[in-house]
Amino acid sequence: MHALVIHGPRDVRVETMESPKAGPGQLLVRVAAGGVCGSDLHYFRNGGFGAVRLKNPMALGHECCGAVAAIGDGVEGFPVGTRVAVRPSLPCGKCVYCREGKYTHCMDMRYYGSAMRVPHIDGVFRQELVIERDQAYIVPDSVSDAEAAMTEPLAVALHAVRRAGSLFGKRVLVTGCGPIGVLIIMAARLAGAVHITATDVGAGPLTIAADVGADETIDVAENPQALSAHSVDKGDFDVLFEASGNPAALLSGIECVRPQGLAMQLGLGGQVDLALNSIVFKEIELRGAFRFHEEFGMAVDLMASRRIDVKPLISGIFPYQNWAEAFALAEDRSRAMKVLLTFA
Ligand SMILES: [Zn+2]
Ligand SMILES: [Zn+2]
Repeated sequence: MHALVIHGPRDVRVETMESPKAGPGQLLVRVAAGGVCGSDLHYFRNGGFGAVRLKNPMALGHECCGAVAAIGDGVEGFPVGTRVAVRPSLPCGKCVYCREGKYTHCMDMRYYGSAMRVPHIDGVFRQELVIERDQAYIVPDSVSDAEAAMTEPLAVALHAVRRAGSLFGKRVLVTGCGPIGVLIIMAARLAGAVHITATDVGAGPLTIAADVGADETIDVAENPQALSAHSVDKGDFDVLFEASGNPAALLSGIECVRPQGLAMQLGLGGQVDLALNSIVFKEIELRGAFRFHEEFGMAVDLMASRRIDVKPLISGIFPYQNWAEAFALAEDRSRAMKVLLTFA
């Protein structure tokens, strides 16, 4: 079977690997589709991000779905052919945080396609993948492979929205309209937000943000004063979701959050020169959101019930052999939101 393996910046190779076998409690999945994520692009462009660096070749990818091809001993309820979305996280279940149910913070987390651990955990951009039984979430036929492959980013968005508490009747600002920002817009609408403003630095992402339900979109590169207008009278939004990782977006976003409002940071980035007084005077709460756990199953359910439709995010679907074309499109934010690979 083939896998897409990264060796260093701009050095991705289609490699042949031995077909894996499902052990006890495991499933062999024939991967159908996989989504190219920002982190895959960081490895592709720079060989990593922040302190996380590629130290050995690694199969890319953590967003995928497929069909069960074989089952290991002791697994029930997943007949061969069952379509599943694959949760890329595998918390240990034993550490102090797992015992508290805070699986996202597992001390021994295994996450596909991540160089955080050494040796790295290989990713899902491959034709065959062995997973643990609890990483498999059954997908109904009404949800396509491309949609099911987007369960992971939707779960990230749902986790952030749940961490924000009730959004019912609230005014929401979303900064950064990549896939996560756009999925947050959808989830925030579903959660009862009464108004959503979305910002980005490009027309392409903002068009999709408007399509999926943002009430107002602002291109802050072209028209920064449109956002400043929301900072009068101490701010206009109850909740900020910062999904760009750009320090300027957090700083200007906080200016627009009402007293005792919430600033939820999801975008990963570097240092921010934060004016403490803006947090203190307005009693702003600054909160982080990272990955997900139980939200993965919720994401499948919300797609199955059509309460959330991720199809407007899909920019292109390419066979894995054409990965170079797929990555080139994914890198172009003016044209791409979510690019998918197929592994048939
Ligand atoms: Zn992802
Ligand atoms: Zn753990």
